[in-house]
Amino acid sequence: MATMIIEGDRTKAASGKTYEVRNPATGDVVDEVPAGGPADVDKAAQAAAKAFTTWSRLPANKRAEVLHKASQHMLQKVEQIAPILTREQGKTILESRIEAQRFGENIAWFADLADKIHGEHVRLPDLTTYGLVVRKPIGVCGAIVPWNFPLTLAANKVAPAIAAGNTVVLKPASTTPLATLACIEALIEGGLPEGVVNVVLGQATGEAIVSHPLIRKIALTGSTPTGKKVMASAAEGLKKVTLELGGSDPCIVLDDADLEGAARAISVGRFFNCGQACLAVKRLYVQEGAYDALLEKLVARASKLKPGNGMDKDSRMGPMHTETQRAEVEAQVKDAVDRGAKVAHGAGRPQGGDYDKGWFIEPTILEDVPDGARMWTEEVFGPALPVRRIKDLDEGLRLANDSQFGLGSSIWTTSMAAAYRAVQEIEAGYTWVNALQIAHDELPFGGTKQSGFGKEHGVEAFLQYTEEKSVVYGGI
Ligand code: NAD
Repeated sequence: MATMIIEGDRTKAASGKTYEVRNPATGDVVDEVPAGGPADVDKAAQAAAKAFTTWSRLPANKRAEVLHKASQHMLQKVEQIAPILTREQGKTILESRIEAQRFGENIAWFADLADKIHGEHVRLPDLTTYGLVVRKPIGVCGAIVPWNFPLTLAANKVAPAIAAGNTVVLKPASTTPLATLACIEALIEGGLPEGVVNVVLGQATGEAIVSHPLIRKIALTGSTPTGKKVMASAAEGLKKVTLELGGSDPCIVLDDADLEGAARAISVGRFFNCGQACLAVKRLYVQEGAYDALLEKLVARASKLKPGNGMDKDSRMGPMHTETQRAEVEAQVKDAVDRGAKVAHGAGRPQGGDYDKGWFIEPTILEDVPDGARMWTEEVFGPALPVRRIKDLDEGLRLANDSQFGLGSSIWTTSMAAAYRAVQEIEAGYTWVNALQIAHDELPFGGTKQSGFGKEHGVEAFLQYTEEKSVVYGGI
């Protein structure tokens, strides 16, 4: 049975309650897990506060050294961790390897920043004084993570937090705790001191983290409704919040685009991780002259994406993570079809044999999806793509911005002027121009509008795990 990681303890829930984690491809029980609650969060927050007194005072270059060693050790375990992730989440083993690798690389990337960020010296009018702006870690940070990319999204919070000298109480999604535990355990084996990152498990621990008085900052990746609840509850304790929420990324393809490149990026962007990604091509707007050729390429690519158990090396797309999640996507597709959309590919479930044991779904492409359909107005968190013809860039930009969300966006064109307009006018935290929608370590990532605020990745993320303090030295 899995246990929580709280300082030196590998512990069950204080209540003694447990729940089962199941494999989305087979329905089999993967492990039994403690169903933690407020008492466990309290213990973890106390442990993190204790660890903060030593971790935050460690010279920054030593902290960097510890984190580099720990991440190197973790990276040697990618092959052991990846199957755990596939069994609990459903994604293909290739996707799991990439994700486990990214976890370790992210820790190393922020370790490099630990001793590179500094404050400022400020001249004051009175020359018998001088001013400083010093940067300090915040304290204990809460990290709340969803199930779609359990490792990447944990690392996005844990890595900058601990590199800056903070300590963490981490809560994975209740259905995907196991690979996260393995990653944190590997960091500890590699030399990360106990108590710097504590892992609590169970649905009820999220709210307890947000309301715990010792926890000073909350970073959440999750849905927009959860983000609103977390922000309201964090306001009680005036905590800092970073909210990485839902998205419905538009992609515009113009007549002059490299259609092969666009088809590849859109296919990866929509179907990677069985479409369960915040950053994903979720609304496609194609200019008339490119429409037929691009659609043909997209359908050809979708038809090669064989759904299957992620552990099977022939599978190109795992199952959806839960039955509810699949039902939601199927309802969105049905809504579009009922309103008159045309199925270009998929729109069903692969059936028979092992397919009937898991939450499998076909990659789906729909044409002529009418205005007002749920696929345009809601986030589609699965492998289904609505495509629409546009006359020109103006129409594409208008439709791109016709959404409550503002996370990612992309444009495919060889016109510098068109690309420039897209960068200027699309309301989103990220615009890719003729490029695959990948979040780079080096660039700050985060949304606008209902997709949240605050940044992960980049120097910006590191800074958001520090507080500035002004100092005046007098009597000189
Ligand atoms: P979710 O909002 O249901 O849950 C996310 C996490 O929050 C889970 O750990 C959950 O237990 C916890 N949680 C739920 N209610 C809480 C509360 N009241 N207080 C504290 N914690 C609470 O999201 P999900 O279904 O696990 O993930 C899918 C959503 O995440 C999608 O909307 C997706 O777009 C979004 N997402 C966003 C990003 C991004 O970076 N912007 C990345 C990945 C996923």
